[in-house]
Amino acid sequence: MKTEVLSMKMFLAGEWISKEESIAVLNPQDDSFITSVPAASAEDMLIAIEQAKEGAQIAASMPVHQRISILNKAANYINENSEKYAETIALEGSKTILQARAEVKRCIQTLQISAEEARRIHGETIPFDQGEGSEDRLGYYYRFPIGIIAAITPFNDPLNLVAHKVGPAIASGNAIIVKPATVTPLSALLLAEAFEAAGLPPKVISVITGHGGEIGDILITHPAIRMVSFTGGLETGEKIAHKAGLKKISMELGSNSPVIILKDADLPGAVEATVSGAFYAVGQNCLGVQRVYIEQDIYDEFCSEFIVRVRQYRVGDKMLETTDMGPMISEKEAMRVEKWVNEAVDKGATLLIGGKREGAFYSPTVLTDVPADCTIAQQEIFGPVVLLYPVDDFSSAIEKSNDVDYGLQAGIFTRDIEKAFEAIEKMNVGGIMINDSSDYRIDGMPFGGVKGSGLGREGVKYAIQEMTEPKVVSFKLNYKKSM
Ligand code: NAP
Repeated sequence: MKTEVLSMKMFLAGEWISKEESIAVLNPQDDSFITSVPAASAEDMLIAIEQAKEGAQIAASMPVHQRISILNKAANYINENSEKYAETIALEGSKTILQARAEVKRCIQTLQISAEEARRIHGETIPFDQGEGSEDRLGYYYRFPIGIIAAITPFNDPLNLVAHKVGPAIASGNAIIVKPATVTPLSALLLAEAFEAAGLPPKVISVITGHGGEIGDILITHPAIRMVSFTGGLETGEKIAHKAGLKKISMELGSNSPVIILKDADLPGAVEATVSGAFYAVGQNCLGVQRVYIEQDIYDEFCSEFIVRVRQYRVGDKMLETTDMGPMISEKEAMRVEKWVNEAVDKGATLLIGGKREGAFYSPTVLTDVPADCTIAQQEIFGPVVLLYPVDDFSSAIEKSNDVDYGLQAGIFTRDIEKAFEAIEKMNVGGIMINDSSDYRIDGMPFGGVKGSGLGREGVKYAIQEMTEPKVVSFKLNYKKSM
């Protein structure tokens, strides 16, 4: 193992803190012990919030050039230590080392984009003289930071999804308290290390490790917290939204994304993209392809090409560069996926390939003929399982794609520009990818969903909008009275 000493402390307002109570961080591949992190208490969270009050003032008064410099320095630090970051992501999570390296690259970009966007937080002038009696007013609005942001993050992109909250928060002059997923806290702690090395004033950021069920409520409900930026599952998101009270909430939740393949599509391209979209990161990807609707004329050909490609998938040791797919995040999660697949098969679904579990490993699985009342047909699988459906025509594909409670992203493969535009209009999602799978994303685009997939948008510039408020300024000018 090349990875050097990993910090076992949490980052509380500029101090690395250890606690008597700790949580073991395990490698899901074999349950081996990586390290442990503090199990923070409610009191620790209260201290973090108290410290962040001062941190918010410091952050807001940091000139933009300083924010830019810190964000770029943090990005450079991660770049210089990129292999340590990649190994940490791969070890604690379930990404392969190649996927982990790609996440590190994206995290660097997220921070660099945040640095660029820091200089573009604009307001605009307001023509006050549109109101009768306001002819003597001049003014504008500008955006100011909202204060302290609570960031609660999931396990599946343990570095870049944290950066998607921390980068915009710092760019826009806010303080932030991060509560990372308990199974993958190390990458978030390494992000704090990068900001410490970059010279971010203490108290602007804390990364508090501990169980969401135990320390989450303090963070969510505390009146000093002005925004809860959550990424995770629908169930947790709904609980948090109920509790948060009068504060901003941003909810980046799950999905069971559809992809439509029309008969005029580039078939090899569609197969390659949907296989990758279904099984990337063991299907534990909020944008992962779950439902594929294929026009009847090409259904058999698509299915057989799809299976050929899935057979080539190399499942195994996630630390090897030759591996395509490692374990799921835990055996418990793999057992849940197994249960949902078995339920579908019992109700009449056909298992084309996969369906095998060994510990936390679940083989890439393809199902057809899945009855609509199966859990797997409606809920988010968040595992390496994809459902293939034949459809009579384009309209039925759109209707079925929309017939779920989620709406994050969708894909459609076609060469017919009219149909592409019709899909753009009719698909009820936050993003639609033409000739790509639903899992296409860059870090600078608005990202988020509709329905059960969430509220608000991330993607640096858009997160900055959510993390700032407009303040209106009006000048009453006496000289205007006499004009
Ligand atoms: P999760 O179980 O909802 O947990 C997410 C975070 O919430 C964790 O930090 C968790 O802490 C915390 N949490 C749990 N219960 C809490 C409570 N009562 N109060 C406060 N915090 C609480 O999600 P996950 O299994 O880690 O991640 C998978 C989900 O995230 C999937 O649904 C996926 O689609 C979604 N996701 C969405 C996006 C997006 O951008 N739309 C991106 C990635 C993932 P503990 O770990 O301590 O329980």
